[in-house]
Amino acid sequence: MNENKTITLSCSGADESKHPQVYLLLDANKVTICPYCSKEFTKDEENHD
Ligand SMILES: [Zn+2]
Repeated sequence: MNENKTITLSCSGADESKHPQVYLLLDANKVTICPYCSKEFTKDEENHD
């Protein structure tokens, strides 16, 4: 079993005119920061429904 999967998430921000919907690859042990709105995503976001 390989648990070292990469999680894909999307961020579209609050202002769609300046923040296109982007897809970010979230590494399980790292923090990913959205280049548009600087929102930080961690693996815990995986549980967001
Ligand atoms: Zn964003």
